[in-house]
Amino acid sequence: MYRLAVLGYPVGHSRSPAMHNAALAELGLAGEWAYEAIEITPDGFEERVRAMPGEGFAGANVTVPHKGAALAVADELSEAVREIGAANTLVFAGGAIRAENTDAEGLLRSLPRSPAGQRALVLGAGGAGRAIVWALLREGAEVDVWNRTALRSRHLCEELGGEPVEGPDQSAYQLIVNSTAVGLHGEDPFAELPLAADRFAAGQVVVDMVYDGDPTALLRAAAAAGATTVDGIEVLVQQGALSLEIWTDRPAPLETMRTAARS
Ligand code: NAP
Repeated sequence: MYRLAVLGYPVGHSRSPAMHNAALAELGLAGEWAYEAIEITPDGFEERVRAMPGEGFAGANVTVPHKGAALAVADELSEAVREIGAANTLVFAGGAIRAENTDAEGLLRSLPRSPAGQRALVLGAGGAGRAIVWALLREGAEVDVWNRTALRSRHLCEELGGEPVEGPDQSAYQLIVNSTAVGLHGEDPFAELPLAADRFAAGQVVVDMVYDGDPTALLRAAAAAGATTVDGIEVLVQQGALSLEIWTDRPAPLETMRTAARS
């Protein structure tokens, strides 16, 4: 049996076990592979991860608050992990721990069109924001970054590129990505973020990394204006599919993963 897991603290809410186990069943691998959720406190992370290969684990997803620690525990880092400074996927093979970041490519795959040459606004300069800014710049987008704590967006842009902005003009962007945690606990995005509910436009693509069973208030307003919306579950599915392909070397069944993640 090859074991897989999502490692977080807390992790009970994660949709990853349902999504990955449905995918493994669809691939006919359910008898050989299984995916579980493991809660690990930050001070126990390194020891727990080092024990995993000996317990039959082939890999793991890593979520809040361990994405930086995942990089530190790894023997090998992908280029994306090195540049973004965070890993969400670990691979245990040949006695080594390899760290990958599928959040960046997962975001790109969730977009309805290439961001090349487009003006993009990224809200947030935390771990998710760093992966998104890195991915969009690599694809050739022109990226502005707003963050509540302006010092943090300035630092992000010094390291990765992009322009820090403090009062963005919402209508000037073809792509807007909310990578802040606003909305996670019912906060009003139009009170906390530099956006107005009535200033979205048809033709824009609006992504909200926050996910919920229902469209967030941000995505409801964007859709009402005729914008194309992408929710956090689609990004979760795309990053999960990439991780699954790394571990199993099989094409991930996206539709099965979407259905499981949304149910
Ligand atoms: P993080 O590193 O803790 O960063 C949190 C970000 O949210 C920071 O930019 C922070 O700004 C901002 N923020 C928090 N409360 C705010 C408020 N009231 N007003 C304005 N800004 C606020 O977290 P993360 O890992 O980047 O994750 C961010 C969000 O993305 C979370 O909701 C997470 O669940 C989601 N996410 C989704 C996926 C997916 O696959 N769908 C993947 C990764 C993350 P300050 O710097 O000013 O504190």
